[in-house]
Amino acid sequence: MSAQATTVNSSPPSAKKTRKRILTGDRPTGPLHVGNYVGTLANRVKLQDSYDTFLLVADHHMLTTRLDHLSEIEQNIRDDVIDNLAVGVDPEKVTYLLQSLVPQIPELHLYFSMLVSVPRVQRIPTLKEQLRDHGLAQPTYGLLGYPVLQAADILIVKGDLVPVGRDQESHVELTREIARRFNELFAPIFPLPESLIPDMGLLPGIDGRDKMGKSLDNAIFFSDDAKTVERKVMGMYTDPNRVRATDRGRVEGNPVFVYHDTFNTDKAEVEDLKRRYREGQVGDVEVKRRLITALETFLAPIRERREEIAAKPAIVDEILAAGSERARREADTTIHEVREAMHLDYFGR
Ligand code: ATP
Ligand code: MG
Repeated sequence: MSAQATTVNSSPPSAKKTRKRILTGDRPTGPLHVGNYVGTLANRVKLQDSYDTFLLVADHHMLTTRLDHLSEIEQNIRDDVIDNLAVGVDPEKVTYLLQSLVPQIPELHLYFSMLVSVPRVQRIPTLKEQLRDHGLAQPTYGLLGYPVLQAADILIVKGDLVPVGRDQESHVELTREIARRFNELFAPIFPLPESLIPDMGLLPGIDGRDKMGKSLDNAIFFSDDAKTVERKVMGMYTDPNRVRATDRGRVEGNPVFVYHDTFNTDKAEVEDLKRRYREGQVGDVEVKRRLITALETFLAPIRERREEIAAKPAIVDEILAAGSERARREADTTIHEVREAMHLDYFGR
């Protein structure tokens, strides 16, 4: 799309699904980073022509871990939309929706919460990670239900495919279980969604943790300027056992090389750096300098588009309003089917 484009997908709701659907989304916990790109944004862009794609800005999900940061939520929502636009998620093809503008989602979440046992959600691996990352002793009732709410996000638009990072795989698995259970108990109205996860797994953080995250203070953001990217890369965690440039280094699992593999399009250069690193013939500084160049090639055009879009903030309001309206129409159809199947369509509901 051109950064100036202001037209949005206002096509009427299809009474019947004519194309397979994607549901994907982000928590508006901060601006997006290159890990989000690898995990899901690249697939959003790639598949937007062949799937009817819904992109959810999941503001209710932010409540699960960030009650002390809610004054930032509106700006985060804007950043999320701007970042998606900047990487090329085209609003003429993709329906952007704001979760809190689609009240059918929390209603479906309530029904789904009756179909899942407490031990089942306690076993989901992301729960333990969230508790660890946010220093919590116990989950709130809301945090425990996060993956159930995600099932409602996906199934309210009858999503078939869910492009996500590896950390979210267990949530899509739970979504399938919930859909299957609903279909057996009431009526077969839901698809069993599949996740679409990149082979490479999660992009590590600049601090060497196995996941870069918006909330983890270890990310390279699309909104970072060139100087900030340079500072972050120069401070990156590498092979902790290598003290001098002449020491033999480890390439496997070394985040600097994971980033090279992901973002450096000059594969011959990457192979040469790896070989010299293993043999103790190249310093960290050269490896990092070349990574900065590769990252800049990737980031500079995104950053430029980002700035053009950010200069016209009304675009964001327009895209979210139109997309949420379309999503509400789809969601309304689904929720009426659900109420009817559950015998909850009384008193004119
Ligand atoms: P937070 O730390 O607040 O949870 P996040 O960086 O994990 O933020 P989300 O909004 O939770 O981002 O996730 C958006 C999408 O990006 C999801 O599909 C998630 O799987 C994916 N994703 C997040 N971090 C990574 C990563 N390091 N590598 C690959 N994919 C990722
Ligand atoms: Mg996350």
